[in-house]
Amino acid sequence: MITETRREVCRLHAELVRYDLVAWTAGNVSGRVPGEDLFVIKPSGVSYDELTPESMVVCDLDGKLVEGDHAPSSDTEAHAYVYRHMPEVGGVVHTHSTYATAWAARGEPIPCVLTAMADEFGGPIPVGPFALIGGDDIGRGIVKTLAGHRSRAVLMQNHGVFTIGESPKAAVKAAVMCEDVARTVHISRQLGRPVPIEPHHIDSLFDRYQNVYGQRSAK
Ligand SMILES: [Zn+2]
Repeated sequence: MITETRREVCRLHAELVRYDLVAWTAGNVSGRVPGEDLFVIKPSGVSYDELTPESMVVCDLDGKLVEGDHAPSSDTEAHAYVYRHMPEVGGVVHTHSTYATAWAARGEPIPCVLTAMADEFGGPIPVGPFALIGGDDIGRGIVKTLAGHRSRAVLMQNHGVFTIGESPKAAVKAAVMCEDVARTVHISRQLGRPVPIEPHHIDSLFDRYQNVYGQRSAK
């Protein structure tokens, strides 16, 4: 299982590049190893085109290195905190993608003004607290904001995006969709006031997409 998770997490980093969510090495994907108290994460400071399944790092749920030749990503503590406190989460992604992070810089949630947002996030994308890297502050802010919330994405104030999913692929998808809606709503704002979607319409869109639409294959 560890080998398979290394391969999957490595492969998914290419998606961050493909969708233009990252600059230099500032973004990472992790995935829980099924059936183990372990997760696989990007090594710190290694460029995306040099990543291999073997260079991925395996950590325990306290974020301690278990297996790997490199130091784990500097965001490992935040990922570990999420895995410890949200057992349903199988993947975590962090980026500083441009438009979503522009909302985070203002500390402003992205309002739910697109049916695609209602589908994917079930409402606005919330803002999490300002938190410094190191220790549990970022992880605590993510969990506090997303626990019991429909959104699988949080805009950490002045920082960037964290997304969660039942798999690493689902978390990557949430990161791609978060940036996409952040950009569209931003552009909409330039020319006027986006029209909010009625809450009961958001509910039915979310319910249909999560339960009926071909979501199963995306996970
Ligand atoms: Zn960051």
